[in-house]
Amino acid sequence: MLRGRFAPSPSGRMHLGNVFSAMLAWLSAKSRGGQIVLRVEDLDPARSKPAFVEAILDDLKWLGLDWDERAEDQSRRHQAYEAALERLGQMGLLYPCYCSRDQLHAASALQAASAPHASDGRIIYAGTCRNLTAEERALRPPTRCLRVKVPGETVAFTDGLQGPQSLSLQEEWGDFIVRRADGVAAYQLAVVVDDAACGVTEVVRGRDLLSSTPVQLWLYRALGLTPPSFVHVPMLLSTDGRRLSKRDRDLDLGQLRKAWPPEKVIGLLAWRCGLIDRWEAVSPRELAADFDWRRVRREDIVMTLPQ
Ligand code: GLU
Ligand code: ZN
Repeated sequence: MLRGRFAPSPSGRMHLGNVFSAMLAWLSAKSRGGQIVLRVEDLDPARSKPAFVEAILDDLKWLGLDWDERAEDQSRRHQAYEAALERLGQMGLLYPCYCSRDQLHAASALQAASAPHASDGRIIYAGTCRNLTAEERALRPPTRCLRVKVPGETVAFTDGLQGPQSLSLQEEWGDFIVRRADGVAAYQLAVVVDDAACGVTEVVRGRDLLSSTPVQLWLYRALGLTPPSFVHVPMLLSTDGRRLSKRDRDLDLGQLRKAWPPEKVIGLLAWRCGLIDRWEAVSPRELAADFDWRRVRREDIVMTLPQ
């Protein structure tokens, strides 16, 4: 049984880009008799608001994107993440990182010219805390922050839309964080633990997460879990070339719901990604009847709002 998922973060109202990922996840699952699991990704207590959870669920229903099951919210899954960390720790893969944000920034400013960079410009963690001795650790103020010792390994996989991918964990990620200093599990860990626990077999999400997938695939393997397949869909861009974000208020569902019926919103996205030939009102159910990933474009989409 194919199981897809919606994994919204309740840090704002959904915008068109979020709707686009959710629509394609739903179509991919439903066109093949599969199911959708909804999981609220409210890991970050400072950014998640219960009011946004309600709004997002209401928006999904309004759009006709329903789900078969609701998994536990991430804020309630602390024990499961701790169990996974325990497992990684037993394999000797974790170490505490004492670096403060300021130290990391200062270190990266100092090393900017020489430090290893990922292809998107992020500075890779220099491994400062990797080889501290037990004595050195004992001298630092305790922290809950944990990093993974990333192996010198290149992870390859085939994305359902973007094709073959491969990425060097050390060059593109370095030792990444699995638990933050405040004790909250990091996204990379939580998403793997949860997708596995939910029995998700297909992850459909924005292309901005493509470079996270090798990290996640490596975590699946380390934890002895079966990974899903991945499909990374194009980003929606504003006319000035930026990715749409929760700041683009004119394209959030609050505004769109005032302007159009749900079928026009679905129809707009379906048209712009190549599923239909012109902008017309269409429901997800109608699109599912002959949905085919081969008709979905893989390049990013500039989103202009038709009047
Ligand atoms: N919660 C993430 C978001 O809303 C999605 C994470 C994922 O799909 O893996 O952007
Ligand atoms: Zn450190």
